[in-house]
Amino acid sequence: MPSLPERILILGGTAEASKLAADLMEQGETFVITALAGRTEYPASLAGDVRIGGFGGVDGLAAYLRSQGITRVIDATHPFARQISANAVEACRKAEVPLTVHLRPPWLQQPGDRWIIVETLEAAAKAFPEGARVFLALGRQYIDLFAQRTDCHFVIRMVDAPSTPLPFTHADIVVGKAAADWEAEKALLEGHAITHLVTRNSGGEASYGKIIAARILELPVVMIARPIA
Ligand code: NAP
Repeated sequence: MPSLPERILILGGTAEASKLAADLMEQGETFVITALAGRTEYPASLAGDVRIGGFGGVDGLAAYLRSQGITRVIDATHPFARQISANAVEACRKAEVPLTVHLRPPWLQQPGDRWIIVETLEAAAKAFPEGARVFLALGRQYIDLFAQRTDCHFVIRMVDAPSTPLPFTHADIVVGKAAADWEAEKALLEGHAITHLVTRNSGGEASYGKIIAARILELPVVMIARPIA
């Protein structure tokens, strides 16, 4: 009797998840659906099916797995997206569906890197001096705290233009995504006369360009470490 095709749910939102969907689709005989939280207005197109929006916690995800006959879940979410990863563990246990986790290794400090490693956003917001010109490479939901530093100028990169004004007194907004291309990132940092970069240790190739650019420009990088599990 021929075996039924696999029905794989990828929890996505990362470059690695997109590649995984494309690779699995290429292999054929597999149904692939990528779930996105719906944080970005115009997500890049993905191979296979796409589902947008939360599941409604552990029980919602478990119910979805059962109703869609999902045979495997792959968690390829961002390493700082903790809630969905925890939900996936519990929902897969409840629905008795195997779970594979793709966790990007963090970036490691290289010779020439000038990292100031901090554990929290609060510590990051205190890690640069008065008068600094700070490039914030953080998601929209993580930047408000920095607005208290009215003594600094911020350049904030966002995937989508903000729908409401940001609470900053001195800030420029750059709409765009992080790039692997360090030359483009270097030009951006130089163009805004940046003195400090703030980022989380996301790992991965797709957003490493800014780290190389900061190394070459000898800029301090306020690096927010991964949360301890
Ligand atoms: P989170 O705090 O772990 O998730 C919050 C809630 O959003 C989850 O409980 C879930 O809602 C929903 N959700 C998250 N990821 C989902 C997905 N892939 N598919 C469907 N629902 C999802 O996550 P977050 O930090 O807000 O990140 C949201 C998504 O953006 C993640 O998928 C992640 O891969 C991507 N992303 C995150 C970052 C980051 O810095 N955190 C950076 C780049 C991309 P329900 O409980 O209702 O299911």
